[in-house]
Amino acid sequence: MTRCRLCGSEAMASVVDLGATPPCESFLAADRLDEPEPAYPLHLRVCTDCWLAQLPPLITPEETFKEYAYFSSYSTSWVEHARTFVAEAVQRLGLDSEDKDAFVVEVASNDGYLLRHMVDRGIRCLGIEPSENVGAAAREAGVPTLTQFLDPATGSHVRAEHGPADLVVANNVYAHIPDVVGFTRGLRALVADDGWVSIEVQHLLTLIEENQYDTIYHEHFQYYTVASASRALAGGGLALVDVELLPTHGGSLRLWARPTEATGEPANGMSPALGAHPGRRLGEEPRARGRVADVLAREKAAGLQELSGYTEFSARVAKVRRDLLKFLIEAAERGETVVGYGAPGKGNTLLNHCGIRPDLLPYTVDRNPYKHGRFTPGTRIPILPPEQLAADRPDHVLVLPWNLRAELVEQLSFVGDWGGRLVFPIPELSIVEVKP
Ligand SMILES: [Zn+2]
Repeated sequence: MTRCRLCGSEAMASVVDLGATPPCESFLAADRLDEPEPAYPLHLRVCTDCWLAQLPPLITPEETFKEYAYFSSYSTSWVEHARTFVAEAVQRLGLDSEDKDAFVVEVASNDGYLLRHMVDRGIRCLGIEPSENVGAAAREAGVPTLTQFLDPATGSHVRAEHGPADLVVANNVYAHIPDVVGFTRGLRALVADDGWVSIEVQHLLTLIEENQYDTIYHEHFQYYTVASASRALAGGGLALVDVELLPTHGGSLRLWARPTEATGEPANGMSPALGAHPGRRLGEEPRARGRVADVLAREKAAGLQELSGYTEFSARVAKVRRDLLKFLIEAAERGETVVGYGAPGKGNTLLNHCGIRPDLLPYTVDRNPYKHGRFTPGTRIPILPPEQLAADRPDHVLVLPWNLRAELVEQLSFVGDWGGRLVFPIPELSIVEVKP
């Protein structure tokens, strides 16, 4: 039995057991199909002392991220999300004021999809990205990028070389690091003593409420509420001062944190405090304090500070699986064709947990050319270019990146040309007629 990585407790309760699956980003090249493929248990538990939901670290980030298949720039809505964030952050923190040589660091900066907007504004920045192939793409796009994992030593090294950062951005990475305290100390090492850290991470509240169980995979070591994130930040010397709820990934948190000493509060992680330094640019403070309290209250009302909030989840996951299988089997027996759209990591949790193979889903398509000609891990479903849809005119298209629903209903409206329908498996099975 593993101990809680945040508080060391052994009081770990089962939330959902999804069996065993390969790493969700290990897409197989055709010449690997006859080789053994390791599968790892996927069993989410929650610590009943600090309420951090977590998976044991069976696969290290070094194994996952050395060569990574996910390029953020392939998602139109993701690029737009980054552009909006940069515009808001620059304004909120005054990063473009002329008397200030602002410095922005992004951790897990991927292919530079976000920092390129800082470069465009002439703001000094640096990406820290562990994947060699993805970091190389960022450098080609003109975004200075260091190929490195963040830990306290990397943080100190970057601070010594470039100076402290006015803003440190860490989006879609805070779940991906098993050493959450070491990573948080790394953020603290990077950020100026009066600077800001902005973190986007999936929200466990929506994961539970919306049956988003396919977002549980080995690369996500922990799943946060505002309450548990606040404790994790405090463990590395950062205090949570504001939170925004975002629709990304089906429901995410944007956490705004500052060095504990900048907030003038004891580092207990549970009392977001603001305004310790009058005169600083913190016009939003009373609203910020209210927002943290509001989300904490919602989490408490959902039962996430006690076991009751977690106990029903497993039965709802089983229902998602039954409904999807029933649909695929009945469609097959009616002689209708169903193919997939997208090959996201989360799709592989769903496909493996449901046991869906090419007899029920002959192929899926994806916009990322890296994946073309490869196969989904475990279930070995071929991944083809998107043009295959119009060539084959399938009766149903099962959409695996359901979190991009609005974007994809529009993008895939051509499926309606031949009377095809879109199928979304989560939060519950729904079949959508699209108008051409
Ligand atoms: Zn704990």
